[in-house]
Amino acid sequence: AGRLAGKRAFVTAAGQGIGRASALAMAAEGASVIATDRDGAKLAGLEQHGITVMPLDVMDDHAVEAAITGAGTLDILFNCAGFVHQNTALTCTEDEWDFAFNLNVRAMWRCLRAALPGMLAAGHGSIINMASAASSIKGAPNRFVYGTTKAAVIGMTRAVAADTVTQGVRCNCLAPGTVDTPSLGDRIAANASSAGGLEAARAAFVARQAMGRLATAEEMAALVVYLASDESTFVTGQAMVIDGGWTL
Ligand code: NAD
Repeated sequence: AGRLAGKRAFVTAAGQGIGRASALAMAAEGASVIATDRDGAKLAGLEQHGITVMPLDVMDDHAVEAAITGAGTLDILFNCAGFVHQNTALTCTEDEWDFAFNLNVRAMWRCLRAALPGMLAAGHGSIINMASAASSIKGAPNRFVYGTTKAAVIGMTRAVAADTVTQGVRCNCLAPGTVDTPSLGDRIAANASSAGGLEAARAAFVARQAMGRLATAEEMAALVVYLASDESTFVTGQAMVIDGGWTL
């Protein structure tokens, strides 16, 4: 039996990147996994691993409520959906601010609000939120609204953990450095002209990491499995920094 045998997990933004790697890693450890993404086509291929797939836009409150309550009592919720804007306090637009807070913070609250009653009734559960090292932990250039929202995720994680700590439910978050995922490729492409080409733009992201390389999504998934498992039953309210030494 795997480390997550008998557990039911729900993952948002599981179509690619860290969410997808985590859905696969949890299924490989024996969890029964429901993988969701706004773009249902991106979930292709997960069924072959015994994963249940379902299109879900976490911005749609009613759909979130229906999908999560309909999934039965969850042992694990991995709130992975989020978007990285590249802006500063001077270039961020009101629309970018609203979009970032609605997706990165409010939608996460809605998902955990839908999952919590079942977890509290069962007397156990692990909620895992996606924050970032670029947050209250580290200021990163050109990540104004992103870092602001991810700091809010850390605050929300601690607040939920404080409210559930005596009831068997845990809530933690990941605070990663730079992870090689499809959306990182988009950010590299967006920076290419100002950085002097694609290779130079990629090198600038790699240079931020003290280890001299980017993280893989699988390295993130290993931490998700740990936080989801009973190996971490004494861990709650934490922002787990996993950043290749970025914040050293
Ligand atoms: P990604 O950005 O490449 O993919 C994101 C996925 O989210 C896509 O499959 C997309 O379809 C889905 N998605 C977007 N909006 C959605 C919505 N409204 N509802 C449901 N799904 C939606 O993946 P990633 O880079 O692994 O990022 C995942 C999370 O990790 C994000 O919260 C991101 O902020 C965070 N993160 C990423 C890095 C990094 O360097 N890649 C670092 C720290 C934190």
